[in-house]
Amino acid sequence: MNLIDGKKIASEIQEVLKEKIGRFPRKISLAVLLVGEDPGSISYVRMKQKACLEIGIESIVEKLDLHVSEKTLLDRITALNRDPAIDGILVQQPLPEHIDADNICRAIDPSKDVDGFHPINVGKLLLGQEDGFIPCTPLGIQVLCEKSGIDLTGQHVVIVGRSNIVGKPLAALLVQKRKGCNATVTVAHSLTKNLESITRSADILIAAMGRPHFIRGHMVKSGAVVIDVGVNRIQEKKLVGDVDFLSVSSVASRMTPVPGGVGPMTIAMLMQNTYESAHRRG
Ligand code: NDP
Repeated sequence: MNLIDGKKIASEIQEVLKEKIGRFPRKISLAVLLVGEDPGSISYVRMKQKACLEIGIESIVEKLDLHVSEKTLLDRITALNRDPAIDGILVQQPLPEHIDADNICRAIDPSKDVDGFHPINVGKLLLGQEDGFIPCTPLGIQVLCEKSGIDLTGQHVVIVGRSNIVGKPLAALLVQKRKGCNATVTVAHSLTKNLESITRSADILIAAMGRPHFIRGHMVKSGAVVIDVGVNRIQEKKLVGDVDFLSVSSVASRMTPVPGGVGPMTIAMLMQNTYESAHRRG
């Protein structure tokens, strides 16, 4: 089994971006809104800030109180939408229950929506229109396959998980009639019958469920590629994926590790989307 080194590929992408950003005639800025003190969110925001710093994007992190009203958050987004110095806006999820995440998504100007969650960007992805933004984790997985020499053309890709941030946009992307995609895609979820027989039919199996070690060796076809999107915190600090590395590594031909697989690619694609936004805006 060969490991797919997401960390290395992400860092190569960021190096190229750093050069482009160095030549860009003005400052590029990403605004990040963080509500509350969720430790996971704080750590994700820190990673995004670090990547921005490394490649020369200015990151402006606004921390808002856990009890901030939806109206106040919407007002902040409106101000950032209008601010010509801001190229990208993202609101770190999850949001507290009193805030409607859909309202927040819809409030962000689609041309600054570098997370790609606005309905207009989701629609553009589905229609294969390339002037929107593709959500960072799905895009990161597609680019990871392309850069690792994994040709998806005509391959059976099985995605386990149908969330709006991973499973659904990933399916919409990989099925596109365009270079690096052209896969035959099946999406499975918690109500799927005979899950094991479906996962065993995958040439490329993508686990995006949030269930630690759920995918085991007997669920994987011999020689398949296995991409692990899951990030699950077990014990105090240990992060594990949705794939049981030990049993799957004796069956799969290639696998992504956790950490160091899809995670760094997600950050790299956020940087790429932010650069792309600045480039489009001129
Ligand atoms: P969600 O909880 O929103 O979705 C999980 C999906 O998995 C659902 O569609 C659910 O089905 C399905 N599922 C859950 N249990 C099973 C099961 N036993 N059998 C089949 N399907 C099942 O999670 P997200 O998509 O937001 O995230 C998935 C994982 O990816 C998490 O671990 C998250 O931390 C990680 N993640 C990692 C990122 C990265 O950059 N590496 C970025 C984003 C997420 P149903 O719809 O029926 O409930």
